[in-house]
Amino acid sequence: MQTKKSQELFQRAQKVLPGGVNSPVRAFKSVGRDPIFIQRANGSKMWDVDGNMYIDYIGSWGPMLLGHAHPDVVDAVKQATEGGLSFGTPSEMEVLIGELICEMVPSIDVVRMVNSGTEATMSAIRLARAYTNRDKIIKFEGCYHGHGDSFLIKAGSGALTLGTPDSPGVTEGTARDTLIAQFNNIQSVKELFENNKDTIAAVIIEPVAGNMGCVAPSDSFLDDLRNVCTKNNALLIFDEVMTGFRLARGGAQELFGVTPDLTTLGKVIGGGMPVGAYGGRREIMSMISPSGSVYQAGTLSGNPIAMASGYTMLTYINKHNDLYDALEKKGAAIEEGIRNVISRKSYPVSVNRVGSMFTLFFTDKVVNDFETASSSDRDKFAAYFGSMLEQGIYIPPSQFEAAFISTAHTDGDIEQTLSAVEVALEKVFG
Ligand SMILES: *Cc1c(COP(=O)(O)O)cnc(C)c1O
Repeated sequence: MQTKKSQELFQRAQKVLPGGVNSPVRAFKSVGRDPIFIQRANGSKMWDVDGNMYIDYIGSWGPMLLGHAHPDVVDAVKQATEGGLSFGTPSEMEVLIGELICEMVPSIDVVRMVNSGTEATMSAIRLARAYTNRDKIIKFEGCYHGHGDSFLIKAGSGALTLGTPDSPGVTEGTARDTLIAQFNNIQSVKELFENNKDTIAAVIIEPVAGNMGCVAPSDSFLDDLRNVCTKNNALLIFDEVMTGFRLARGGAQELFGVTPDLTTLGKVIGGGMPVGAYGGRREIMSMISPSGSVYQAGTLSGNPIAMASGYTMLTYINKHNDLYDALEKKGAAIEEGIRNVISRKSYPVSVNRVGSMFTLFFTDKVVNDFETASSSDRDKFAAYFGSMLEQGIYIPPSQFEAAFISTAHTDGDIEQTLSAVEVALEKVFG
């Protein structure tokens, strides 16, 4: 694989950008390689600056549910730009997307648009603290909720990948207000509530974890969490930045039939443009400024181009409600294919999948929490990643990220991917 132009760009990038990138996992550090620079993407494919083609399973880390450069979304964005790039005043598209979100996501009566998932979670926590008049929050080890100070305690994703789960720069006071529970372990949550009576504002969780690799909630876990929160007058926040509109039209809350008090959204909601949102019950959301006193604002929030992109994405989802069945079929085909290879050769590899999210862990343990996820052999993952990339399959360059399937992935793509997996695993274990 020829990567000369990528290497040249990375040399220049390192002089002007920290680590040569604008978001850490992109740097390929944990897989011991230099990043490749993408020039363009279409459908399930991406092309780098050296002309290599890849079948893409990153999908911009989640947004590309319909594949890259979907014509409906691209047309909507083109059209919107003609009318001006930003007004800083209300516009119709904000009402349209707001109505659509409230209709699609079961727990949301009122929604506030922001510019990223990080902004959504930071704002939701502030609101939960104001609503309950309490300071502490519970998060789960290995879950990632963006880079807000309160969340950089045992966080997943980039923080895990680089081995800095507790980032310098986060004050002790902030860290003290963040309590850590174990995913899929309701007892660990109950104990925190018992030891911190009437001080916990909210529990925030990825209902299906994607930032320690894909980890599903066990049977009654989300239900139990709902009950524990209700009993202790704490808010339950589902961080559906990754799972929203990906696992079902109404997100993981629809899939599992559990209703949180607040929901945070991002990724798919913008169709590739920088969009986030948070919403919930009217009674809680009415505390947000200007209808209430909890301050939260954004110069570019509700930006007309971003709203046009997101609205078109959500409208497409609404018109094609068979989309999730199709994604499930593609996901099942990939999972089954990989399991076949693994069982034929008795490789110590564990596969997790929920709908169109999946991860291979290089461990023979069942992965259901952070501890089991981190039992994965990361050197083996790095070797696997390298082989896949060289075979033209672009999976996330971290053991602790989920791969994403889009509606644009064809049977041919999947077949090619499965052959590559076989070769890569042979190389890793052979
Ligand atoms: C990606 C992600 C975020 C952060 O969103 P950004 O848009 O990167 O700020 C928060 N929570 C979850 C679950 C995510 O997957």
